[in-house]
Amino acid sequence: MQQTIEQIRAEALQRLQDAADREAVQALSVHFLGRKGVLTQFLRQISTLPPKDRPAAGQAANRLKAELEEAVAQRLAALEARQRADADRIDVTLPGRPAPVGHLHPLTQVKVEICEIFERMGFDIAEGPEVETDYYNFEALNIPKDHPARDMQDTFYVSDNIVLRTQTSPTQPRVMEKQPPPVRIIAPGKVYRCDSDLTHTPMFHQVEGLLVDTQVSFGDLKGVLTEFVHQIFGPRTPLRFRPSFFPFTEPSAEVDIGCTICGGAGCRVCSHTGWLEILGSGMVHPAVFEKVGYDTDRYSGFAFGMGIERIAMLKYGIDDLRRFFENDLRFLRQF
Ligand SMILES: [Zn+2]
Repeated sequence: MQQTIEQIRAEALQRLQDAADREAVQALSVHFLGRKGVLTQFLRQISTLPPKDRPAAGQAANRLKAELEEAVAQRLAALEARQRADADRIDVTLPGRPAPVGHLHPLTQVKVEICEIFERMGFDIAEGPEVETDYYNFEALNIPKDHPARDMQDTFYVSDNIVLRTQTSPTQPRVMEKQPPPVRIIAPGKVYRCDSDLTHTPMFHQVEGLLVDTQVSFGDLKGVLTEFVHQIFGPRTPLRFRPSFFPFTEPSAEVDIGCTICGGAGCRVCSHTGWLEILGSGMVHPAVFEKVGYDTDRYSGFAFGMGIERIAMLKYGIDDLRRFFENDLRFLRQF
């Protein structure tokens, strides 16, 4: 009897040790410990033994049962641990995963390109605050209170005299107050207007330019802006200067380029005119110079400003301004 118990024990432990997976261990558990299992049948046979041998056989069988239950549990735990280790193992032969590397936003790329073109022409970069006083945003630029030009710009007011700047132009008087001529700056940055639709967002970007020196003429303005257009849109891009009005320049001109979509034949984007407006410009109004104490008999200058979004849309053929601000990677990865 003792002999049989030992045989069952040895066989069960060996086969558990050899079991390769969870299913095999469970099958062995049923085979040895189940209701019709080897050990159960052994226990049933105890009643056929002589009475004096029964207690010892019963105890031995129950000890083995406990031992095998423990062995099954241990084998299952060992198999699970090995499976986890396999899953975590690093395969050093696999090619590495590339780290996700981003790139500059298309608007930033265009801003950098615009700045580089003007820097090559000798302009410095200047920056000013986005929360601006009414004085610098309007009055210093020859837009007094009650001036109709204020209606052209839907202003965010922080308080009566503090605004979110509606243009990058306030950087001009701020720079001129601090330095005597000659001045040659461009000022890129964010501007804010209370406006939101297909072609307007409450925040957008402008680049402003200012050049002041002795004997600056409208011819200089045309030369600088023509060079700029040819560098950013291509050397054969036609452009024209169209008379316009801005309170801080006189005379003023808007610059149009030949439509980049239809090549001048006329299409929906250019309203069938063949031309697209890309920036405003003009000779600095003497009233602006007087506010910063420049001698208007001695100095003259020109200024210009453009929307970075508009330049980027025309350059890349994008028809919806909001694409720039949705952070959709499928869009951004194309640039
Ligand atoms: Zn067109």
